[in-house]
Amino acid sequence: MSLTNRLLTYLLSLLAVVLVGFSVGIYFFVGHYLHQDVDERLSSALNILTGSLDIEADSVEWEPADRTLVFSQGLLGENVSWYIADVDGGLIDRSQSPESDQFFNQRVPGAADSTAEETLIASGGWYRKHRRIKAPQIAENQIRRPRTAEEIEKGEYPALVLTTGMPQAETRHARQTLLLALAGLSTGLWLVCFAIGRWICRRALRPVSRMAQAASEMGSRDLHQRLPPVPSGDELQAMNEAFNGLLDRLEVSFQQQRRFTGDVSHQLRTPLTIIQGHAEVALRRERSVAEYQEVLQTICQQVTRLNQLVESLLFLARSDSDAALPPLEPLDLGNWLTDFEQTWKTSTQHARVHFETPPSDSIVVAARPEMLTEIVKNLLDNSIKYSPSDSPVILGFTETAGQAGIFVEDHGPGIAPADRSRIFQPFFRAESARGSGADGIGLGLSIANRLAGAMQGSIDVESEPNRGSRFLVWLRRWQTNS
Ligand code: ADP
Repeated sequence: MSLTNRLLTYLLSLLAVVLVGFSVGIYFFVGHYLHQDVDERLSSALNILTGSLDIEADSVEWEPADRTLVFSQGLLGENVSWYIADVDGGLIDRSQSPESDQFFNQRVPGAADSTAEETLIASGGWYRKHRRIKAPQIAENQIRRPRTAEEIEKGEYPALVLTTGMPQAETRHARQTLLLALAGLSTGLWLVCFAIGRWICRRALRPVSRMAQAASEMGSRDLHQRLPPVPSGDELQAMNEAFNGLLDRLEVSFQQQRRFTGDVSHQLRTPLTIIQGHAEVALRRERSVAEYQEVLQTICQQVTRLNQLVESLLFLARSDSDAALPPLEPLDLGNWLTDFEQTWKTSTQHARVHFETPPSDSIVVAARPEMLTEIVKNLLDNSIKYSPSDSPVILGFTETAGQAGIFVEDHGPGIAPADRSRIFQPFFRAESARGSGADGIGLGLSIANRLAGAMQGSIDVESEPNRGSRFLVWLRRWQTNS
């Protein structure tokens, strides 16, 4: 089910429940009000009739001639009908309206025996109310006693029964009309809401459909494409921008990968071409043993280079989580530098490196000694490689409140500002480095940076073109709880 339909179903179901509840409420409220109105009017008509009775201590007499009987109409214009009867149901007087006959003929027997409070009765198509008026001195069992000749002559009775009524038809009709009107209005309102809701939902979700369409049309090679902008200023715009931002990052990452693959192929091809060239030239004719040895030496050198390259690539391809590294340990930088100096003395280039005297206070960092050695070797190699052979390279200490480390400084060509952020990318080599003829493939700093990251550290570079560079290896200070 589409989101539009789901939203509409929820909203319209809710609306249907509200409309049904509202209509039922109105229907019952109006019905109750009409019923109450009939009840009140019939009571008031009974009061008017009672007012025309002459109630003596032992007799009740109907004397309508003394009063004019005026009854108010019902809410729906119905007229009140009435009749006065003796306790046996014999008619004494009745209203003169055309329907009064029918009203009297459909009278309810036993009304004279009811001493209960007047209640509204609905029967035979009429609402009716009875009131029995008995002379005060007449006992309950005397109301049907035979009337004396004098009473008959004067029109007196021991008790009389007054009945008022209104036809049910109008009220019933009004209720039916109300029911139809409510049903019609509710259905109409529901349909209008359905049409408007559908339009609004579709309009509101149109950008989502457009984005889905655009996303589904994008191929894996179309990473330069973006979703059409949604300037709605709401969550949809945020989602659109977030998705396009993700595409930006993916595109950069894909380009880097592509460049990386190109660089790798290039670096692999160079030694392979050299090996193939030397082997082919050697095979063209019979060679002396010395010539074969020379070719084999070249092949060996190139294979070593290939091996180093493959090792470096494997290292960079492996994620830190795959590497299952040993935990960081406290490392006294002064002691480490002394040990490193001893090892370094075996290098052919040891004379160029000046070791700073370790500070009197020990500096302890969280590190892995063999990783730090590898990083510093890489940096020293570069400094020696790229700076003039008569200039010194300095190895010293650096520290701040939270970090400490080692720096390697040289007086070489320096690094152009634009290249500083790129020298840590695999295979990047500055123009000056390429032109200098210095050996290298551009992986040393990537590996060093990766090693520093694996120790939760980093490498910074400060450099001035033609004055020299300083590489700082920062490591976290060792805390007893780290
Ligand atoms: P490689 O030395 O094999 O080219 P690196 O990753 O070690 O690769 O260094 C990347 C690039 O950074 C070098 O090619 C060079 O342009 C620049 N670079 C590194 N160290 C120095 C330095 N000490 N002085 C000047 N440039 C440097």
